[in-house]
Amino acid sequence: MEYAVLPKSALGSFVDALRQYGKVIAPVAKSERHFAFEEVTDARDIALKYIPTILPPKKYFMPQYETLAEYDIREGQKLYPVVEVEHIVLFGVHTCDLAGIQCLDVVFSDRPKDLNYLVRRGYVTIIGLECNEYCDQYASCGLMGTFLPQGGYDLFFTDLGDYFFVHVGTQRGEDIVANFSLFQRAESRHFWDLQLLRAKKAEIFRPEVPVDRFLLPRMFQEGFEAKVWEDVGNRCLSCANCTNVCPTCYCFDVKDVMNLDLRTGKRIRVWDSCQNEPFAKIASGESFRAERSDRKRHRFNRKFSYPVKRYNRFFCTGCGRCSRVCMAKIDLKETIAQLARETGYLKV
Ligand code: SF4
Ligand code: SF4
Repeated sequence: MEYAVLPKSALGSFVDALRQYGKVIAPVAKSERHFAFEEVTDARDIALKYIPTILPPKKYFMPQYETLAEYDIREGQKLYPVVEVEHIVLFGVHTCDLAGIQCLDVVFSDRPKDLNYLVRRGYVTIIGLECNEYCDQYASCGLMGTFLPQGGYDLFFTDLGDYFFVHVGTQRGEDIVANFSLFQRAESRHFWDLQLLRAKKAEIFRPEVPVDRFLLPRMFQEGFEAKVWEDVGNRCLSCANCTNVCPTCYCFDVKDVMNLDLRTGKRIRVWDSCQNEPFAKIASGESFRAERSDRKRHRFNRKFSYPVKRYNRFFCTGCGRCSRVCMAKIDLKETIAQLARETGYLKV
């Protein structure tokens, strides 16, 4: 069955049934405007309407702290690779975050392949959930074109009132549907409901900045010396909040942690950030990006320009998290608009 429907009243028993595939993780309200992905045992705890979670689901694919290897040099040099995995089901992933996971998939599948990421990725079942409404003023999914599903899920749910319309994306998704008897085959009236919702969304989700998305890489290249970088550099506090919460930022550092016996220990990797000054420092002490303005310009180019050349996709999903958390109130949309004004790319 490629398309199915699930009565909303069956969500509780569906979530119970999902546990056979792993720990069920879903968005949960932490306050009125703050949400987090965490384990749920009761479907009533799941937030079906939520603004993007504080941290994106990348924390389940690329943990903030992860052991890559353990070593023991007591009897010769021995290094044991470590991959920490568990079966999990991510329920309720919005389309912007599905796009973020797709970006990470591309990066970690590139040469050299990252086995820790790829093995862990195979243990995760992903169930997407459509945003029917605009989440808040920080999002730019209209500009980035990420407000509609574009793959990257096993199942994709759309809330259509008293039922979910479900698209089956993979064989694993098909197995889940086949194993749960409350799914029904989608009929033409269900497709009609979906079409009405999507037509309504097309009216709401408009580009938040009047620029042509496909010209963004060129705009960023031409705006390399633009004044906007000095402006945001003067305000930036180099706190790295923006990279930590970004679903597509994947830079990490690798460190050795030796035990007190000086014979055993482990090699770990931890999230790093291009917004921290030592990030681009080299052994002789020089830094390629000593100024905050250089680092801000670099981050934006790593979203809108460089990955388009390398992977043919933007690494900004328009989730809005970086603007939401920035203590200096540096807003991604305002920055793009200012650059577009300076470079003449703003549509009038
Ligand atoms: S969150 Fe804001 S202040 Fe912090 S590093 Fe990012 S842009 Fe700078
Ligand atoms: S750059 Fe900002 S808006 Fe774009 S994906 Fe990262 S956190 Fe989301």
